[in-house]
Amino acid sequence: MGKEELIEEKVKGYLSRIKAEDKKVNAFLELNGDVLKEARKVDSKKKKGKLFGLVFGVKSNINVLGLKASCASETLKDYKSTYDATVIKKIKEEDGIIIGMLNCDEFASGVSGENSAFGATDNSAAPGRITGGSSSGSAAAVAAGFCDLSLGSDTGGSIRTPASHCGVIGVKPSYGAVSRYGLIDLSMSLDQIGVLGKNVEDCANVLSVIAGKEDRDTSTRDFGKLKMENYGKKKIKIGVLRLRGTDSKIQKVIDSKVKEIVEKLGWNVGEIEIENIELAVETYYPLVYVEFFSGTRRFDGRKYGKKIEDVSGKEVLRRILGGSEISKAEFAGQYYRKALGVKNLISLEFEKAFKKFDCVVSPVTPVLPWKIGQGEKMSLEEIYAADALTCPSNLAGICAISVPAGFVKEGKEEIPVGIQVMCGKGEDGKLLGIAREIEGLSR
Ligand code: GLN
Repeated sequence: MGKEELIEEKVKGYLSRIKAEDKKVNAFLELNGDVLKEARKVDSKKKKGKLFGLVFGVKSNINVLGLKASCASETLKDYKSTYDATVIKKIKEEDGIIIGMLNCDEFASGVSGENSAFGATDNSAAPGRITGGSSSGSAAAVAAGFCDLSLGSDTGGSIRTPASHCGVIGVKPSYGAVSRYGLIDLSMSLDQIGVLGKNVEDCANVLSVIAGKEDRDTSTRDFGKLKMENYGKKKIKIGVLRLRGTDSKIQKVIDSKVKEIVEKLGWNVGEIEIENIELAVETYYPLVYVEFFSGTRRFDGRKYGKKIEDVSGKEVLRRILGGSEISKAEFAGQYYRKALGVKNLISLEFEKAFKKFDCVVSPVTPVLPWKIGQGEKMSLEEIYAADALTCPSNLAGICAISVPAGFVKEGKEEIPVGIQVMCGKGEDGKLLGIAREIEGLSR
């Protein structure tokens, strides 16, 4: 951006692009009618905030005053937010601009973007394919050049998966690093708000603004100031994690990226195993079902319009019915407790891993983005298995990022593939620093 360019002009450019292309992409559910006015206000400022003039799209499960937090659901279709989530308040205070609300899987429940009540989002980096989910619009909007950055939420992979499929950066901060006040829960013990963008530095800039302990979300923790560290000259040790069943074409991209890391950055590499990681998916879902069931009891049709069970899509209904079953008094919480036990084991395993390695790397997803509509024909097990490499870090509460690693060629298509980097709880600054070095290798 030239120094003199007005933010208003930049926003106009984004709006006309959205107008021309979003019919096909379906990234936005609503545009902010005041965005030009807000841009002009920012343009008139003498003292510029840290996010001056950066234009954000926001996942529709985060409250932005006056815009709809529909969660891409019929239930909340007409719910207009009456307040700003903490992350939004902080972004606005630093002169960031919200251009609109983004599509996603209904209540962030999904891995493909196909579960939105308002239609799937198209992957502009691989047209005709899913963007990945649940933050489908958040990745698509950045990839399509509709905004500078976006906010998403990640409970089991919902930022990293679409980032990987769309060839952008996606960061899931450590649990407790960023306030969830104003985020509509999928699963409160796993959800984190995070950022998607075109490069690591932009994302780090945003995270340095939105992170921090806050009384309104008692799960937030004081991890110290979140600041990207410099790994330019440091020699570190990375653990390479493999998952049986990963598409060999994806693994090939990751292996050649790791080779490049060794050759060009001179970092040490070792193989690592995380015990019980194969239980992650079956541990994750009962936790999500139970917490989601409990969280949705307020959507009973009295305050927000339609009762959730009456109008929700199949996946949301499955979670509500499943969660209600698991939570039955006669089971005395045994399934939930068992899942918590394994969650703890996986967490301890990662702690052990980070004693030996500075970070752990792996593919983001074991499968390539499928063609839109194909999800209908897949089994639930197949769909849930797509989270196998991402949900472990949510269970462990650690931070993780997806960085574009390369492409898989399928006929004439070039499908983006991301490499996942994971660091310990509260080590978000280190994660970003490592990611920036990897990002700088080749794109
Ligand atoms: N695919 C996972 C699920 O459906 C992850 C969702 C998310 O991270 N919000 O629950």
